This record gives sequence, structure tokens and C-alpha cells, in this order.
Amino acid sequence: MSFSQDKTQLENSGSSLDSIDPEVFEIINREHQRQKENIELIASANFVSRAVLEATGSILTNKVAEGYPGRRYFSGCENIDELENLAIARAKELFGAAHANLEPYTGSQANHAVYLTVLKPGDRILGMDLGHGGHLSHGARFTMTGKHYDCHFYQVAPDTERLDYDQILAQAKDIRPKLIIAGASSYPRIIDFQRFREIADEVGAYLLADIAHISGLVAAGLHPSPVPHAHFVTTSTQKTMRGPRSGIILLGEHSAPEFARKIDSAVFPGVQGAVHVHAIAAKAVMLKEAMSPSFVAYQRQNLENSRILAEDLMARGFRLVSGGTDNHLMLLDLTEKGITGKEAEDRLASVRITVNKNLLPYDSQKPSVCSGIRIGTSATTTRGLGSKEMHCLADLIDKMLSSEPTVNIITKVRDEVSRLCRLYPHIDSIYDHNGDRFALESQYQLQS
Ligand SMILES: *Cc1c(COP(=O)(O)O)cnc(C)c1O
Repeated sequence: MSFSQDKTQLENSGSSLDSIDPEVFEIINREHQRQKENIELIASANFVSRAVLEATGSILTNKVAEGYPGRRYFSGCENIDELENLAIARAKELFGAAHANLEPYTGSQANHAVYLTVLKPGDRILGMDLGHGGHLSHGARFTMTGKHYDCHFYQVAPDTERLDYDQILAQAKDIRPKLIIAGASSYPRIIDFQRFREIADEVGAYLLADIAHISGLVAAGLHPSPVPHAHFVTTSTQKTMRGPRSGIILLGEHSAPEFARKIDSAVFPGVQGAVHVHAIAAKAVMLKEAMSPSFVAYQRQNLENSRILAEDLMARGFRLVSGGTDNHLMLLDLTEKGITGKEAEDRLASVRITVNKNLLPYDSQKPSVCSGIRIGTSATTTRGLGSKEMHCLADLIDKMLSSEPTVNIITKVRDEVSRLCRLYPHIDSIYDHNGDRFALESQYQLQS
């Protein structure tokens, strides 16, 4: 490389995204605008703090590090070691764990590392059926897990639409899995991890508790923790934890002595390469935030919002799977309203309310259509919406789904969504430093 090329690169490295790559800059800005103007009710979504955003976008992305603190394959890792140790210590403290691995790139990767730790190809897994609330990474046929292992599934009971632990035990005795997975993406009720461990013990299986959706509630002490019970606990960090798109693995005191080193080598070099150092920093910040009283207050409000929205919707004639919710999400069965999940998703999207169509237990529709939608309150709660606004959202959802909305109604709902979005601005982002938009947001804050 010539000196002049080198110089150009250095100059470019000092320029901002808008001058280097206006196309990408513009797309990010449009996405920022979309996030500001939409009511986000996708249950797995959330908004990170500016501090988490800063850590994610920091120069840490430049550092290559493989292995673990004190056991690296590259030099120059002294700061990174300190950072990862800090993140590990915080994770252990927050969740009462004896061992924590902060390196998984996502929740799915964390699960793959657990599989690699205790399973051989062809071994049997018993997890929750995808259509009943389970997750793709728990063994869906067309995934790597589904292809490498012999995956079986439990379902919710047809009458209660809740987990039936006696039934799961009977199935486990029948199937004799090496690993049982407890945890879900669309299950609105408390999960009894202690009971799951008893079932695992009865059949000689390991237990993985995947708390991707509920980890924020667990951290806040608002959902029973699986850490004392499950051999392995995995989570995503971008959902109720309000962190970067990433993952964590936790081991309790009872399982750390046997599995700490094994799980670490399963993550690296087992299923991953070099550490995403910027994500480790963002997770450390997330964990610090999660230790504060305001995080607990946030999760309490999240649960309160979810309960209010669920009750309001039921009062308006919507059937909720299992008759309600104990957590941050609910499943609406739209069969009696005469529309499909797909149609409902589209109708709500047209007024800038974002949800996802979702299969219901024993659904007769295809996965691309679905009979229901899933709604979660984590993101809107972060944005500041409270009980009053949940009553309002229930009304808007009802107006859009209970009958074919007229043009007049659509306009009214859209206006109301805009009003809510202005009243509760999107948290400011690193893209807000320039110009008008920031001023506009300050104005909204003054008005509210
Ligand atoms: C979201 C989720 C995951 C992991 O998702 P990633 O996108 O890989 O972080 C794993 N398990 C469950 C139950 C989930 O809901």
C-alpha cells in the first residue's frame, strides 16, 4: 500500500458515516424514523440506553481476542481481560450464578454451546413444541439442532393451554432424552423450573433453562430463577434485559464444578470464533443498569402494563391463550374475530403498531398465516408508556381488529399512534446529534 493510500484511509477514518457512506447513513436514519413513529409491541423487542448504544458502537470492535481472560491467543488483551472479568462478575452477582460465560454471540449460539457440551450427534432432546411457544433453536426440524439431534417436543395441555408437568414427565419417561429444555418464546405463564429439574432427575436428563424472553424479569426477582435448578441457563440479552443483540450462559453452584470449563470450551472454540468485544462491553453496561432500582421499577411497570393490556383486551371480547398473562407477553386468539394472524399483523402495521402473527397451540392455520398474534409490552414500557396508555392501546387494537376499520377509523387510530409517539419520544440515539430532529424531540418533551 502506498503512503498516499494510507493517508486517505486515515483521513477517512476521521470522517463520519454520512460523508463516507450516505446510502447506509440514510437507511439508518429512515430506520430511526420508523422506530420513532411506531408503537413497538413485538414481545422480543426493546430499546437500549444510550450508554449501551455507545458501548456497542465503540472502538472495542477493533480488538481481536480469542479464549478467555488470562488465557488468550493474542497479545494486547489486558484491557479486554479486565472488561470481560467485570462483565462476568456482574452477571454472576445479578443472577446469583457461580459461573458465567459472556461470549455467546446470541441466545441461539448459547444453546448450541450447551448441546455441544452434553450431547453427541443423534442424542435425544425433549423441548417445547415450536407451535406451542418453543424456540427454533430447540430442535425445529429444519435447523442445525433438528438435523444433528433426535428432537422431541412437549406441548401445552389442550384445555388449560398451560404446561402440564405430569404429562411432560410421562413423555420424558417414554422418550428418555439426554437433555430437557425448559423455556419459550411465546408462553405467557410462569415456568416452574424446579419441577422441570425433578422431571429431568427422574429420567436422568440434563436440564437447560432458556430464559431468553424472561431474563429481565428473573434479574428483577419477578419470575422464579432457574439458576438454582437447571444444569445450564441461557439467555438472549436484547429482549427484557434491554442489552445488545447477544447471549449469556449461566451455571449455578450445583453445576459449575462439573461444567464451567466444558461450557467455556464449547463456546470457544466449539461453536464460535473471536470475542465480540464491543458486545461484551455493552453487556457489562446492561448488567450494571439491571442492578439498579430503576430496572426493577421498569420490570414492575412492564408486568403491570402487560396485565392491564391483557385485561382490557379480554374485556373487549378477545380470547387470550391460557386466559391471560403472568409475564410481559400475551397471545391473542383471533379465530372468533374472524381474521387471521397475518391479516391482523398487516392491519396493525398500517397504523404503525408493530406486532407479529403467531401460531397458537393446536393452530389449524399454516405458520405463514397463523390464527393469532403475540403482543409484548417491554419496548413500549421502556419508551415510557404506562397504565393509561395501555387502556388507549387496547382501544386502538380493538378498533382495528374487531371489525373491518373504516377509512375514518384508520385515520383516527393513526393520529392517536402519532400522538403517543410524540408524547413518548424514542430515546435519543447517536444519530440525533445533527440538527432539527433533536430540537423537535426536546419540544415534544416540553409539551408533555
Ligand atoms: C429469542 C430466543 C432465543 C435466541 O434468540 P437469538 O435471536 O439467537 O438471541 C432463544 N430461545 C428463546 C426461547 C428465545 O425466545
